[in-house]
Amino acid sequence: MVTVRAAREEGVPPRMVADRDAAGFGEVLTALRTPVDARVRTSASARHLELVRELWRDCLTARDLYRGEYEGAWCERCGHFVAASDGRCPQHGCTVTRATEPNWSFRTSRYRDRLRDAVACAQLDIVPAIRRNKVLAALDAGVET
Ligand SMILES: [Zn+2]
Repeated sequence: MVTVRAAREEGVPPRMVADRDAAGFGEVLTALRTPVDARVRTSASARHLELVRELWRDCLTARDLYRGEYEGAWCERCGHFVAASDGRCPQHGCTVTRATEPNWSFRTSRYRDRLRDAVACAQLDIVPAIRRNKVLAALDAGVET
């Protein structure tokens, strides 16, 4: 959403911001002399775009996607939502603001039991274990969507 927001503020297409950011990221890696074995920009692949569009169409047809609104703590310095239980950005320590933005959500509740079983028996492996346990806890608590 950072890319979309930046594009909106600059009055340019999001793709232009993404292209610029991707180039900048590559320059940073070069400047840092960071060895990179492989770098794949999936949006540059026509096949990837085709598959993503197909996935979105299938999800829309199945009514697994719905428009909603996300509300959370927004850090201006991070440029994204953060987990700020005390009203401060955990990275910057600055005060965050409450913000909302339109969002697409996936109707996870339809698949909760199958997801829980897949994660619990490691058919769907999530690492590190702390993330796996958080996913299981969220699924056990009940998914709202
Ligand atoms: Zn921050």
